[in-house]
Amino acid sequence: MIEPLLRVRNLRVVFPHRHGELVPIDDISFDVKRGEILGFVGESGAGKSMTGAAIINLIDPPGYIENGEIWLEDERIDQLDARAANRVRGKRISMVFQDPLTSLNPLRTIGDQLVETILVHLPISPEEARRKARKGLEEVGIDPARIDAYPHEFSGGMRQRVVIALALSAEPELIIADEPTTALDVSVQAQVLELLKKLCREHGASVILITHDMGVIAETTDRVAVLYAGRLAEIGTTAEVLNSPQHPYTRGLIASTPSVEHGDIGTHLFQIEGAMPRLDALPSGCAFHPRCEYADRRCAESRPDLLQERVACWQYADG
Ligand code: SF4
Repeated sequence: MIEPLLRVRNLRVVFPHRHGELVPIDDISFDVKRGEILGFVGESGAGKSMTGAAIINLIDPPGYIENGEIWLEDERIDQLDARAANRVRGKRISMVFQDPLTSLNPLRTIGDQLVETILVHLPISPEEARRKARKGLEEVGIDPARIDAYPHEFSGGMRQRVVIALALSAEPELIIADEPTTALDVSVQAQVLELLKKLCREHGASVILITHDMGVIAETTDRVAVLYAGRLAEIGTTAEVLNSPQHPYTRGLIASTPSVEHGDIGTHLFQIEGAMPRLDALPSGCAFHPRCEYADRRCAESRPDLLQERVACWQYADG
């Protein structure tokens, strides 16, 4: 059997709080296979970005990983010192953020930024690095002649392409893309996602794609993990989860996604009543129970584990 590229086991992230602790990630386990795109989906506050931050060792203090293990192949990466974490970050794992301007230095040309990243991580000469930077720009559909332009000289979609070139420049094995298209127009969104998909396939990189958008999940991912209040609600292949969702929260997310095919445009869309609970006021039992139409006493009293590595719901347990 092929070993997964990334293994996350029983990850628990804690933030000390004046009334005890806040737990934005609680006992999450999953794998990412080589070359696959795994989507994380859920509303704001579900724990998607925090999971990404834990993997890349960027949890803001005073938060910390209290329990669990994160393995990148045979290297355990949740206990690295700052120097070793820097080596992994950028080289083996890189990140694409929602707003390209947070990843790009406005005072330096995109070429300088690409060359610098390449030289930090790859043992090649500056001339070679510049050639590689030009090739990277070409791959993302930017004329290499613009290598000496500044970030502000590009549109939002083009800037995100530059960030993708930057993320791929050190030939990482894993890219964590956190809402990479949320700030873009819909037509540009589709192009950027298609590009990310194509390049990751060509480079053999795996992707964790963080999004709140089920449409993006359907278009882009091989597998999907649905998060709710810091826990995995459901995980499976994208076809499995979208065609046969088992968790009531997943069903709600799918039902609230507009579909042209199903004639939803202009009609009243389903919405999940209520909101994601605050971390300092998590409900007992299944955290989704105050919003779940199927909740019973057991749901309010006892928290379901992920069953058969697929769904965390008492209803599923009962068949
Ligand atoms: Fe709903 Fe109960 Fe399942 Fe939670 S465990 S999703 S409350 S049916």
